[in-house]
Amino acid sequence: MNIDYPLWMEIDLQSLHNNFIRIQQHLTVPDASRIIGVVKADAYGHGLESVLQLQKWGMNRFGVATAQEGKALRQIGIKGTIYLLGGFIDQEIPGIFKNHLTPALSSREEWDRLNSAVQTNQQELDFHIKIDTGMGRMGFLPEELDESFFDQISHHPYLRLKGVMTHFASSENNPAYTQKQFEIFQNCLKRLSHSKQILFDNLEKHCCNSAGFLFFPYFHLDLVRVGIALFGVSPIHDFSPARSLGLSPVMRIRSRVKHLKTLPSGCYIGYGGTYITQGQTRLAVIPIGYAQGLLRRLSNRMEVLIKGQRAKCLGVISMDQMMVDVTNIPNVKRGDLVTILGPDGADEIRAEEMAAWAETIPHEILCSFSRIKNRILV
Ligand SMILES: *Cc1c(COP(=O)(O)O)cnc(C)c1O
Repeated sequence: MNIDYPLWMEIDLQSLHNNFIRIQQHLTVPDASRIIGVVKADAYGHGLESVLQLQKWGMNRFGVATAQEGKALRQIGIKGTIYLLGGFIDQEIPGIFKNHLTPALSSREEWDRLNSAVQTNQQELDFHIKIDTGMGRMGFLPEELDESFFDQISHHPYLRLKGVMTHFASSENNPAYTQKQFEIFQNCLKRLSHSKQILFDNLEKHCCNSAGFLFFPYFHLDLVRVGIALFGVSPIHDFSPARSLGLSPVMRIRSRVKHLKTLPSGCYIGYGGTYITQGQTRLAVIPIGYAQGLLRRLSNRMEVLIKGQRAKCLGVISMDQMMVDVTNIPNVKRGDLVTILGPDGADEIRAEEMAAWAETIPHEILCSFSRIKNRILV
């Protein structure tokens, strides 16, 4: 960590390890190799060092969004299967082969491109098929999967079908829709199983993201793809699903009080004067802003912890600074520790709570902090 810098991220490795174990225990068949640790977007902002730790503890499947992310994992020494969950553009194909990534195919066109690539490089590659059962994003539509396609992809000398997946659109808040997606997925699997071409029993079937994993244990199938839960955070504003499973947050963001002043009543605070002091106000300036991933939407809404007590954001968040109200926290001094995310004393600021303040999902809160490159493992 660069200790000259007034803002840093702490990665709680004990929590990460514990989360990995808890997730294994919650699986219908407890087994570490049934977990795909989804570590796209720099491991949800936690940095790749945490992925290396997961590998040390026995994780052997990882999910990323781009070939470049897969390459970065190989470069730090990740040996297991790396799934390219969201398909690819043609320019990523050489990287897929070079780094032995396992893409999830979404179209015949993707298949054709891989097929032409192996004609020249003659390199083996595993792949999965992704089915769009109601997400309306990547994936084959169910009707696109027919016998002629199964014919094409089976018994290929280089390209090996290893699994079939789908992705839930609303597993955090719409059980009926999720159930419907699961049934469509099951129907596709049934058709695959009836195909003479496919060795169906050997295929890895998977559909659960964190919300699916938490709320639909009977959908776990062969593999689960957990991202946010691995980092100890619920996929919704309520943190209790994560907490009740024994998961705890891995990321903490800390800073220090940079400046203090006392303002009389009626003063404007920050750009645009969106806050006016209601009485004599003790104000602290904290060196974090939207350039460091603090969403500007949190302005006038969020709270930080100083000496274990809550201090409310006053005015809009600037590029590199924010102001908080410390009127009711005695003895705040320049240099005092500020917790933007994480515990301090008996209280804790959680990503779920920040997501509610910003009217977004906890995923965006974690990813936005990926801009903070000063990370320490604690
Ligand atoms: C990102 C992603 C996940 C993980 O989602 P979480 O809600 O973070 O668990 C799982 N599957 C796919 C296909 C994804 O893109």
